[in-house]
Amino acid sequence: MVDNLYFFNHINSYTSGPVVMNPQEFDSLELELTSKCTLACPSCARELHKDVQDQWDGGHLPLDLVKSIADTTNFKRYNLVGCYGDVIYHPDFIEICEYYLSRNKNLIIHTNGAFRTSAWWDRLSSLEWKNTEFFFSVDGLEDTNHIYRKNSKWSSVLLGMEKMTAIPKERRPNLIWKFIEFPYNQHQIEQARNLATQLGFDNFETVKSVRTAEQYYLSGQKELYVFS
Ligand code: SF4
Repeated sequence: MVDNLYFFNHINSYTSGPVVMNPQEFDSLELELTSKCTLACPSCARELHKDVQDQWDGGHLPLDLVKSIADTTNFKRYNLVGCYGDVIYHPDFIEICEYYLSRNKNLIIHTNGAFRTSAWWDRLSSLEWKNTEFFFSVDGLEDTNHIYRKNSKWSSVLLGMEKMTAIPKERRPNLIWKFIEFPYNQHQIEQARNLATQLGFDNFETVKSVRTAEQYYLSGQKELYVFS
């Protein structure tokens, strides 16, 4: 959250006067909307840097600040992705998306997709999505996703996937299922790809893990069984 604090000061320095559109040096801006998450992925910064949590746990970016960024910048893309938190747990996430979409901002969203209610997904999926890439980071199926995505609940992830893929084509984001390969879920890649197609995802991407599964991700006998 150090970056957020830096950006907060930086943006404040040019949002105090009349609203102006500032020239951008870079193509895209990454916004860490929140330091909150319901999961505990073992190699996530929030797990690796637990000992200095007071330095990065800045909570949620203020809604006014996030809106002012939309009003005063014109990056080609706005990446809503978290290093210490997952963007869907920002309490104003839906309002933020709506605000950016209404101003024709190109969004790239990454989420683990877990633990939002049906009513919440109904609201999110009712937006007029356009120029958006929406990634579900889901590394396996019902019996394996929680091994790296610790604490995740499959039924809630599937709910989010079903709600987003049910959006009519003409106002849908580009929906991508991103699947990190581990030794314990590699045998499920084709099954997950088929499920992605069946649900209506636009793309299914696999990413190789550079970590050793036994050392970093498996903690219980049940998980070791899945690996063996
Ligand atoms: S879902 Fe993302 S933010 Fe949450 S613990 Fe996993 S990697 Fe970290």
